[in-house]
Amino acid sequence: MNLQKLETILQAQNQPKFRIQQIKKAIYQEGISSFSDISTLSKDLREVLEKEMPVLSFEVQQVLISKDGQSIKALLKLRDGNLIEAVLIAPKPGIWSACISCQVGCAMGCKFCATGKIGFKRNLTAEEITDQILFWIQHLKTTNHKLSTIVYMGMGEPFSNWEQVSQSLRDLTDPNLFGIGSRSISVSTSGIPEGIEKMAQEFPQVNLALSFHFGSNEKRSAAMPINRKNNLESLKVALQNYFAKTKRKVFLEYVMLAGVNDDSKDADNLIDFIRSIGKLQLLHVNLIRYNSTDSQFKSSSKERTILFRDYLEKNRIEVTIRKSLGEEIQGACGQLAGK
Ligand code: SAH
Ligand code: SF4
Repeated sequence: MNLQKLETILQAQNQPKFRIQQIKKAIYQEGISSFSDISTLSKDLREVLEKEMPVLSFEVQQVLISKDGQSIKALLKLRDGNLIEAVLIAPKPGIWSACISCQVGCAMGCKFCATGKIGFKRNLTAEEITDQILFWIQHLKTTNHKLSTIVYMGMGEPFSNWEQVSQSLRDLTDPNLFGIGSRSISVSTSGIPEGIEKMAQEFPQVNLALSFHFGSNEKRSAAMPINRKNNLESLKVALQNYFAKTKRKVFLEYVMLAGVNDDSKDADNLIDFIRSIGKLQLLHVNLIRYNSTDSQFKSSSKERTILFRDYLEKNRIEVTIRKSLGEEIQGACGQLAGK
């Protein structure tokens, strides 16, 4: 919601100062989706607001719900016609996690990623980022559920749009706006050391996830062009500095790609990287099933993924296999908007 515009309208209507607090509470905390439903406002003011400004900065183009109802994906049309995706998943019954986008497309060009194929179109504004959360809060209200966690794992690289992403984090954690706890929010990066440093400085309580995927520079650079600039050695230093500042656990994301990064040598490389950092207990590996997009990559089998996990565990690495969600709704971000 555009707060500046709201303030301007309220001033023009000679409204008292507390009015904005009433509206913020209704929209951000109670999940009311339309000004006309805010019962504490006069009928006239409701009408003016309805006419002058929409609550959300996009229109909902399509909503896909999985058969079990545990994953929902929305294709959202921004005012300039660009499309973004936002996903809502329930990793456990009643626990809802929103996966939000921070850019239209992405410049990083990771070979396995549908968003990477689209290329970079533009940065989202903080409002467009937080409106995705508003949208899911409104959606959950209709079923009497609450949002539990937020992950910046939709389209785009958060540290390439830090100005707007950091503003969105301030808004999400602001007790007068969304009031969401920092520890319920995670930011995922393809690996940009300056960004990791800024996170440690500005949001030490927000969780950091690193899309690691490959334990050798050769393989990582082949699939993730960003690794040619910021290689494994620079990520190692970035993580060491991050731990020194925050003492917080970091999640290493590892998407399982058949025949590409899933054999014992790949596991050894991952183990070596983690050991080289010297903080075994502060790194947690998430093995992720690959949602096949129309690329040359295939997901590793379930058996292979379990073997990989067991091997890491034997080496005292903390690891979980992330439950596969959202495949039937093309849950991997970029899969819908790229069509
Ligand atoms: N740009 C950031 C955040 C968005 S991507 C980043 O790369 O971290 C969120 C996660 O989804 C990343 O770990 C990414 O590598 C992974 N991913 C991309 N395409 C995927 C796919 N088709 N299936 C499963 N995970 C995918
Ligand atoms: Fe961008 Fe992340 Fe996709 Fe890479 S994986 S192209 S960084 S969105």
